[in-house]
Amino acid sequence: MIRKNQGYYIKSSDDVLKDLGESGGALTTLMKFLLKSKIVDGVLAVKKGYDIYDAVPVLISDANKLEESAGSLHCGTMNIAKILVEYINASPDLKLAITVKPCEALTIMELGKRGKIDLNYIIMVGVNCGGTFPPISTRNMIQDVIGVKPDDVINEEITQGKFLVETRDHNIKEINIDYLEDSIYGRRSNCRRCEMNIPVSADLGFGNWGVLEDYVGDYSFVEVFTDKGAEILDKAVESGFLKVEKPSKDAIKIRAHVDNSMISLAKDWQSKDFKGTDNDILKIFSHYDGEFNKCIKCMGCRDACPICFCEECTLEVKSPEWINQGEIPPSPLFHLERLIHMVESCTNCGQCEDVCPVDIPLAKIWHQINLRVKDLEYSPGMDEETLVLFDLFKRPE
Ligand code: SF4
Ligand code: SF4
Ligand code: SF4
Repeated sequence: MIRKNQGYYIKSSDDVLKDLGESGGALTTLMKFLLKSKIVDGVLAVKKGYDIYDAVPVLISDANKLEESAGSLHCGTMNIAKILVEYINASPDLKLAITVKPCEALTIMELGKRGKIDLNYIIMVGVNCGGTFPPISTRNMIQDVIGVKPDDVINEEITQGKFLVETRDHNIKEINIDYLEDSIYGRRSNCRRCEMNIPVSADLGFGNWGVLEDYVGDYSFVEVFTDKGAEILDKAVESGFLKVEKPSKDAIKIRAHVDNSMISLAKDWQSKDFKGTDNDILKIFSHYDGEFNKCIKCMGCRDACPICFCEECTLEVKSPEWINQGEIPPSPLFHLERLIHMVESCTNCGQCEDVCPVDIPLAKIWHQINLRVKDLEYSPGMDEETLVLFDLFKRPE
C-alpha cells in the first residue's frame, strides 16, 4: 500500500508513453489513468509550441492526446498557476490534474488560501526542478558556445550538472552548467537562487533523482506528499497502469544528496546576488531606489504575477486618495504598494522579472525581502497556514 511521506520507484506499463515520457513515462501514465478512470475532467500541462524553446499550456481531456505533453522543456518558463485560475474562473466545477514545478505548486497553494482556487478540485503532480533556462539567451548560447544551430536542436536535457542537446542528425553535445553560469548564460536568475527543487507542496513529486543506474530510463523516483497523492497512486498501481518497487537505502541517500547539493548551490547564489544589502525590509527596498526609478509603469510585472489577485487594483489609479485618475504613481510608492500586496506570498517564480522591459531585477528584490518573511517562520505555499495579513486580502465569499 502506498503511504504519505514515502518514496517509491514507479514504472509505466504503457509501452508508448514509456519511450516518450521523461524517466520512463510514469508521470504521463498516471495522468492517463486519472483521465481514463474519470477522476479528473482534464490534465493541464505544457507542450512544445513553435519549437523546443517555446512551451505552451495545454488542457487535455482525451487520454490519447497526452503524448503531446510527454517529456520536459527546460525553456518552459511560465507559471502555470496563472493559466489554472483562468480555467477555473471559466468553469469552477472542472476537476483537473496539473503538472507543476515546485514554484508553481507553492503558488497554487497560495492562491488556494485566497479562495482563488478550490484545492479539492485539483491534483498537483509535481516534478523535481533544477531550474529553467531563458529561451532567447539559450538559443544564443547553443549557437555561440555549443556551436550548433539552435533550429537544428530536436531535444534538450539537463543531467548531472550538464546541459545536453541532440541535433537532427542525432549528435549529442553537452556543456557544464557551472561553466555557463560563470559566463552570461545559464539558468534564470530566480532559478539559480531557488532552494525548492522538490515539489513538496504538490500531492506527488516525480523525477529521476535517486534512480540508480540499473533503473535509469525505466523508473521514476516518486515521493508522496499528501493522502490524496497516496490514494491516486495506489489506484493507478491497482489498475495496472503503474508498477511499484521500494527504492533501496542507497537510492534514498543519493536523492537526498542531489537535493542538498542543489540547496547549497542556491544558497551560494543568494549570497552572491544579495551581497552588500541590509537585512531590514525597508533598507533592502530603498537599496533598489535607482532600479525602481527606471520603472515606466507598464504594469507588466503586475499582470504577469500569479499572486496579484485583487479584483480592483489600486495601481489602476481608481482611488483618489492614492493618486488622481489618469496619473502615474511615483515609482517607490508604486512598488511599495505591490510589495504590501504580494511579498509575503511571493514564490520566486520570476515572471515579473522576465517581463520587465527595463530590466529591473524584480524577482531578486522580492526574493530578498521574502526571505525576511521566512525569518518569521512563515514560508509561502508550504501549507494552508496563512499570515494574518493574508486575511485582509481574501476575496469576499
Ligand atoms: S524557481 Fe525553482 S521551482 Fe521554479 S522553475 Fe526555477 S528552479 Fe524550478
Ligand atoms: S512577485 Fe514576481 S517572483 Fe514573486 S510571485 Fe509575483 S511574479 Fe513571481
Ligand atoms: S514590468 Fe518593470 S517597467 Fe513595467 S511596471 Fe513592472 S517594474 Fe515597472
